[in-house]
Amino acid sequence: MKPIASEIAYIVRGSARKNLKVLTAYCSFLACMVFGYAFLFQHLMQTLEGREFSFIAGVYWVITVMTTLGFGDITFHSDPGYIFAGIVTISGVVFLLILLPFGIISMFLAPWIENRLRYHPLLEVPPGTGNHVVICGLDPVTRALVRKLQARDIPFFLVISQYEDVQRLEEVEGIRAVYGDPSDLAVLMKLGVERARNVIVNLGDKENINIVLTVRSLCSTPIVTMVDEPEHAELLRLAGANQVVPLKKILGRYLATRATTKGAFAHVLESLGKLLIAELPVHGTPFAGKKLRDALIREQTGLAVVGVWERGKIVIPRGETYLSEQSVIVVMGARNNLEKLEKLTGELPEQDMVMIIGHGRVGCSAASFLEHKSVPFILIDKVVNSGCTEHVAVIGDATSREILKGAAIDQAQGLIATTNDDSANILFTLASRHLNPHIRIAARANREENVAQLYTAGADFVVSTTSVGSNILMNILEKRDSIFLSEGMNIFRHPVPETMDCRTLQSCRIREKTGGTVIGLERGRQEEPIIIPSPETILTSDMTMILIGSPEQEARCRELLH
Ligand code: ADP
Ligand code: ZN
Repeated sequence: MKPIASEIAYIVRGSARKNLKVLTAYCSFLACMVFGYAFLFQHLMQTLEGREFSFIAGVYWVITVMTTLGFGDITFHSDPGYIFAGIVTISGVVFLLILLPFGIISMFLAPWIENRLRYHPLLEVPPGTGNHVVICGLDPVTRALVRKLQARDIPFFLVISQYEDVQRLEEVEGIRAVYGDPSDLAVLMKLGVERARNVIVNLGDKENINIVLTVRSLCSTPIVTMVDEPEHAELLRLAGANQVVPLKKILGRYLATRATTKGAFAHVLESLGKLLIAELPVHGTPFAGKKLRDALIREQTGLAVVGVWERGKIVIPRGETYLSEQSVIVVMGARNNLEKLEKLTGELPEQDMVMIIGHGRVGCSAASFLEHKSVPFILIDKVVNSGCTEHVAVIGDATSREILKGAAIDQAQGLIATTNDDSANILFTLASRHLNPHIRIAARANREENVAQLYTAGADFVVSTTSVGSNILMNILEKRDSIFLSEGMNIFRHPVPETMDCRTLQSCRIREKTGGTVIGLERGRQEEPIIIPSPETILTSDMTMILIGSPEQEARCRELLH
């Protein structure tokens, strides 16, 4: 039996919702009619028969007459009164006893019955389905993944155990999901998991383990699973998962990297072999207020600047790109290059101080990352995190300015807003920006639509759970060696194709054809990579290119280089 809530949900959406408006308007019309008649009744009784009745008595009389109950306790004794009573009775029969039930049946009951009879959820994938992606669990991350899969024409099937979710997904978003419990062996067989290219499992940790075990008992299809508690990752691997994605831990690390202001190594975002990719805030460095050409970063450190962030927007830098106090440069280079940068900026991580709001899994992961990098931090949370014995948080509601001031927000160099409440994160961002204009703010966005608001509130970096999660899954599915910098910018690798062997980089016209930019060339594991190769560099087919570009540019590059 489906819960009543889903039936109510049916009434308040789609065409039924429009009909509900018509019904409300009709009921308002009936109410006006009753009050109008009651007023006339009062007036006629007084003028025709000299009798006084209250307005309530009038409403009572109209209702008994319109519903044809006619108790007979209040009656007219004159011809005009009889005529009026007759009109009220007839309008009651027409508007209340005929039109109202007819309307309710035709607008609600009939479509509802029709809908119940018509809708048959999908119970298995069509015969012959193969090389598809099976996705267990629907949340914003898998929703975003579904959009990416649709854009790339990769076949997929979602399996959902809630009947009403299956129906809503199909009616509202046009996505046909399979109805069933993904931990049920029979359902998995109907999904054709043994012929699938991947199974993505994204429910709670316990359910994930159950599903992974069931899939493994059936076939060896690669399984990618999300994990909430990092300590469950090992169990999931033991159960048979090929890849376990600790999304919250990754988010915490991303946020921490972007909130620290000192110590180049604390900014290392990712590594591509020997190449490290780091993001460095310009504020407080000798580069602030200069054009990239005049900052001489390459000359002094050997690092290549591959991108410049300006409040949530990343641009491919040119010589004339201006480095403001708010800019963050994305640099790429080897370990020794970063060491030179650290010496040049002359700042040690111990001089930094980062405030982390929220000691959930994301906050805890950010704290562990900073601890590992020797960056001092203060944690604030409303409650004690019983799952963590390593960190001690200041207990208090960070939406209060007093708590923020008490925790020395004015002395902090960075702030990480990690709660799972976007409105609260927006509030911390606004308040902290006001209390400390130069603070670096990295905020977590739980919903995609709040990313822009967080930037407007003054965040320097917004890391969206949905984007990060869906990008990681997409990279795994496409077996790509790609780094997600932000929504709209990836760093990726591709071997130099035979067709470009012995040609200069310039003659291949990769940027003109695809929009992607080659930022590095690697040859074997031993040799030092070439960073920002000059246009005259000769490409050879034993090289691997490192490129930067938007997802569309990446797709075009992969097509060109294939
Ligand atoms: P996750 O595990 O995904 O990081 P949680 O909901 O478990 O998410 O963690 C969010 C943390 O943020 C919780 O520990 C919660 O107590 C804390 N939090 C939420 N709102 C505030 C607030 N106004 N001030 C301080 N801490 C907050
Ligand atoms: Zn902790």
